[in-house]
Amino acid sequence: MAEAKNAPEARETQNFIEVAVASDRAAGRFDGRVHTRFPPEPNGFLHIGHAKAICLGFSLAETNEGLTNLRFDDTNPIKEESKYVEAITEDVRWLGYEWGDRLYYASDYFEQLYEWAVKLIEAGKAFVCDLSAEEIRAHRGTLTEPGIESPFRNRSVDENLDLFERMRGGEFEDGSRTLRAKIDMASGNLNLRDPVMYRVLHTSHHRSGDQWCIYPTYDWAHGQSDSIEGITHSTCTLEFENHRPLYDWYLDALGVHHPRQIEFAPLNLSNTILSKRKLLQLVNDGHVSGWDDPRMPTLSGMRRRGFPPTSIRTFCGMIGVGKQASLIELAQLEFCVREDLNRTALRRSAVLRPLKVVIENYPEEQEEKLEAINNPEDDAAGTRKVPFSRELYIERSDFMEDPPKKYFRLGPGREVRLRYGYFIRCVGFEKDERTGDVVELRCTYDPETRGGHAPDGRKVKGTIHWVSARHAIEATVRLYNSLFACPDPGALGDAFLGALNPDSVETIHGARVEPSLAEAEVGLPYQFERQGYYCKDSVESKRGALVFNRTVSLRDSWAKIVKKARASRR
Ligand code: ATP
Ligand code: MG
Repeated sequence: MAEAKNAPEARETQNFIEVAVASDRAAGRFDGRVHTRFPPEPNGFLHIGHAKAICLGFSLAETNEGLTNLRFDDTNPIKEESKYVEAITEDVRWLGYEWGDRLYYASDYFEQLYEWAVKLIEAGKAFVCDLSAEEIRAHRGTLTEPGIESPFRNRSVDENLDLFERMRGGEFEDGSRTLRAKIDMASGNLNLRDPVMYRVLHTSHHRSGDQWCIYPTYDWAHGQSDSIEGITHSTCTLEFENHRPLYDWYLDALGVHHPRQIEFAPLNLSNTILSKRKLLQLVNDGHVSGWDDPRMPTLSGMRRRGFPPTSIRTFCGMIGVGKQASLIELAQLEFCVREDLNRTALRRSAVLRPLKVVIENYPEEQEEKLEAINNPEDDAAGTRKVPFSRELYIERSDFMEDPPKKYFRLGPGREVRLRYGYFIRCVGFEKDERTGDVVELRCTYDPETRGGHAPDGRKVKGTIHWVSARHAIEATVRLYNSLFACPDPGALGDAFLGALNPDSVETIHGARVEPSLAEAEVGLPYQFERQGYYCKDSVESKRGALVFNRTVSLRDSWAKIVKKARASRR
């Protein structure tokens, strides 16, 4: 198991990016400096794929005495909002990373980018184009056909400078003119076919307000922003591989600091969508309650669901960083969460589907406190007292009227151990005449078995959990399953909505939990014994409701997947 931080020393081998960085340092490139950045666009919340990029960027710096910047690449005011900036900074911090005083915005560089654009015009390397976006697209050509040069490509430098200044001045309508780099309309790389650097957009920006009515494209802003910040190693996902020649072209044309860009395969997770555009659609169309819906693969959703940030970092370390795209099993992430919580979560008793038990030989007015262990994995967690009385609730599934052979829980005449309590024996039960459901068990207890052992040495095979009916608190419990029913909804394109899992959430009302859970800390998972890990919902608790989210079940499906894979390799 990797350490909580995904430092390379916790793993056996370095990934290819760590190897590249180490060899740059050994060769004295960038004076041996390592300076990385995480560059989100504030147009949505961060998801688990971003966590992979964050862990990589920050850990590269951490292990090389380097620095990491957080920079918002905020070049598209139509889709960007400050609420996303706030959510993103909160999420990066929650994940456990700090950027010190190095929080930057591409919008801080708008003036510098403008000056650099002027420089390219002066060098005859950029021109103002009057084609519409549609015409530019139509002229672009294909992978097999060269593009067509714009009729405005050979404007004089003076005319270009004049027009570009007037673009900035607000003289032209949205979409009427662009500034384009003059590179090569026949290039095999479509990104080099005179790409757009600026477009006219009379839209307020979340930071610069109405100061600008032309905005740099992402491709024009990104590499230069890295350069301004003195970034040495600029890591990004594979789709930027064929943008690299363009970034190189810009940086070389300007003659400024040139970071090394290294691309890696993005995270794809089974039964999950990791596209901000599609996640936004889920939110906007009401398929989920918001970006922080506990079923969302966002960091805020995972936080609300109870995933510890350490488990996400462990997961990112485990999956590694490579060049080959692959689909990682959701079960592997849940495995990391379960391992983490098994070590840290306090144990509590909760009955999700209650069945009443009356202990006939226990005096009506009597009650006592039994000692229960808080976490068998952690002695320091100590014990607590749980109340016991004549009437209890147990799980409906812990009684069968006609139990099969291997069923070791309660049945007529059978005896079980109550966890941290007594042995009880079922001496009768009552049924709802109408439905045929068992609604109450009549039991007796053996006072000699306090603490779970019989002095006469007799054994019971089953141990069940319970709560005292009089003391328990009522709660609502939400059980989550994957949001998508098929393994790779990302492959469905825009038809992904059809793969939504209709059973992604099951709500159970009227669960009964032990009294100490009234004070449960919001967002902190507890192990409900024999059930799984659950945490108090942050949003519902603000409304005064006691709602628990299931973080993960106890069932480890990842171990099964690994076992099966090993067997098939033999
Ligand atoms: P958009 O389509 O809006 O650009 P995006 O997911 O690329 O969505 P960004 O804010 O541009 O969002 O991403 C910030 C950084 O996170 C980028 O460097 C990007 O490469 C990285 N990233 C995005 N998705 C993943 C993923 N699934 N796995 C690993 N890294 C990712
Ligand atoms: Mg992106």
